[in-house]
Amino acid sequence: MRVTTLCKRLLDLGGVTVTKAEFLEGELVAEVALRRRRLVCPHCGYTTRVRYDTRTVASRWRGLDVGRRKVGVRARLRRLDCPTHGVLTEGVPFAPVASRFTTDFEDLVAFLATRTDKSTIARLCRIDWDTVGRICQRVVARGLDTDRLDSLVNIGVDEVSWRRHHRYLTLVTDHKAGKIVWGAEGKDTDTLDGFFADLGAERADQLEAVSTDMGAAFIKSAANNAVNAVRCIDPFHAVALVTNALDVERRKAWNELRQLPDQDAAKTFKGARWVLLKRPDNLSEDQSVTLRRLRNQGGAVWRAYGLKEAFRAIFAGDLDEHQTAATIDRWCAKASRSRLPAFVKVAKTIRTHRDGILTAICLGINNARAEGLNNHVRLITRRAYGFHSAAAALALVMLSCGPIELHLPHEKPAT
Ligand SMILES: [Zn+2]
Repeated sequence: MRVTTLCKRLLDLGGVTVTKAEFLEGELVAEVALRRRRLVCPHCGYTTRVRYDTRTVASRWRGLDVGRRKVGVRARLRRLDCPTHGVLTEGVPFAPVASRFTTDFEDLVAFLATRTDKSTIARLCRIDWDTVGRICQRVVARGLDTDRLDSLVNIGVDEVSWRRHHRYLTLVTDHKAGKIVWGAEGKDTDTLDGFFADLGAERADQLEAVSTDMGAAFIKSAANNAVNAVRCIDPFHAVALVTNALDVERRKAWNELRQLPDQDAAKTFKGARWVLLKRPDNLSEDQSVTLRRLRNQGGAVWRAYGLKEAFRAIFAGDLDEHQTAATIDRWCAKASRSRLPAFVKVAKTIRTHRDGILTAICLGINNARAEGLNNHVRLITRRAYGFHSAAAALALVMLSCGPIELHLPHEKPAT
């Protein structure tokens, strides 16, 4: 087999002939020529036989590695005059427009970005993290389903920080599909108004429920734009509020114990944080022992734990509307009387949003799934902390939690 043929089979780039293959500075470089005669606009797919001029543009991409070697792909491309986009260099079938990488390379990086950490990808693929961000943006731009905003019925709105110093993304979830369908930088009323502008009045009118956190910003935008939808509070946020209150009480108790001369009691609190925050049925053997110890010790932390578990039980899904309402009210009364300042405060907030929480439970907005998605989003945005742009962070969230199906190069049909 000739070297150029071997190289063509290895790289498997669609629609090209390999004219030359050589090693340059330790890199396998393949010179390729497009098989098609017609010139294609890389933006709109407009085709023509007419060249704009006789000049060619030397272009270069990085392809998937072969063995230990980096792969470079080179071509001399022609120029065309697209009626919409003007004079530009023709598009190629094997690489996205304005990218220095082949589509296969980008698909691999995007797949890795949703599954592993920054330093692993940088070391394996030999590219920097901001390049990963730009690749994610391109993969999302070509993979995102344009119909995803059709037939939305129940949606949730949430904010997540993508970087330190209060940089936020607003994300919209399709509750039915359990996927994130829209996102933008920011977390105020205007940000969510941007979603409704993209959605349009007709599709907004079809919304039956919009769930949000307890902040005023999203509630206001939802009230203005989703006029037919009931507005509710994501149970997940209410649970998070109560969980935080428990953590406040735990920290307080621990700090008090550390002041005492007898350090044995403080030792009980070693590892207590996760034990208290986790669901009791998810605890390991050691953690169960810690939990029993905390119970025997009693006091404020144990009372706070009891309140947290009682609150969580409201969302188990086994109560009817009437029972749920009564249970929330009983819980608020008990928390107000608990003499635990953090819980007294939470009870007040829960009372203010009682109807919204109740509506969410009655609509069956699946809390476990919302919580699962939320945890996943938070894990992904931690990874996005290294990006310099919100667009890259958002792209990584959409890749991981949005309606995009990622395929690895070998999973795609051969060309
Ligand atoms: Zn064009």
